[in-house]
Amino acid sequence: MDIRIVGAFGGESPAHRMTCFVVDGTTALDAGSLTRGLELEDQYRIRDIIISHSHMDHITSLPFLVENVFGRTEEALTIHCTRESMANIRKNMFNNDTWPDFTKIPEKHLPSIQFQEITAEVAFELRGVTYLPVTVDHIVPTVGFLVGSHDSAVLYTSDTAPTKRIWEIANATPTLKAVFMECSFGNAMEKIALISKHLVPTLVAEEVKKLKRDVPVYLYHLKPPHIGVIRKEVAALGNPNLGFLEQDRTYTYA
Ligand SMILES: [Zn+2]
Ligand SMILES: [Zn+2]
Repeated sequence: MDIRIVGAFGGESPAHRMTCFVVDGTTALDAGSLTRGLELEDQYRIRDIIISHSHMDHITSLPFLVENVFGRTEEALTIHCTRESMANIRKNMFNNDTWPDFTKIPEKHLPSIQFQEITAEVAFELRGVTYLPVTVDHIVPTVGFLVGSHDSAVLYTSDTAPTKRIWEIANATPTLKAVFMECSFGNAMEKIALISKHLVPTLVAEEVKKLKRDVPVYLYHLKPPHIGVIRKEVAALGNPNLGFLEQDRTYTYA
């Protein structure tokens, strides 16, 4: 299984690519920067988009992806998300005001996009990779994912405040190879982080204690003004397992 980091949300790049990972070239995990981070040819290969929650930095490229791939295939793009995220995306994005409702275009029986509802703790499979949504603690309904293939699994927390269930799932997964975890602000902004339900380095350290598996934990979602501080504060924690997702890198798990 290959996971390409199309948007780490926190790379120093001025392109400021938002949260988006692509699994095996065909499945997007969040859609913050599919159209900004992928060449057109690579955009045409995307068939399924799995959305963790309805915040803009995780969905903003959806309208442009639909436009870019429109007419390239008979099959609709499938957006997999919870019922709550689906309602938000329909209401705020594909609402015929912000962007056309592509679930009815070109016509209802042959739409450009279709929604597939997912449910927490009910795994689904796409092209040999399984995805288990797990509820985390964010200001809108949000799920992280355990992504598994063959003898490997990777845990993606999505955006969350301190949480519990996803660590139980991680600890019960012997094939776990890595964790992609959020860290949004520096320690001085812990109050803001907790109000907006995100993490800072000291909270990351507490979360990592809940993880009983000795695997690398790659941080993502560093808000650009705080990148320098976060990197320094994470280094000061002295935990050799803690690192940062690298923009544009592809992580391969056998
Ligand atoms: Zn969010
Ligand atoms: Zn986010």
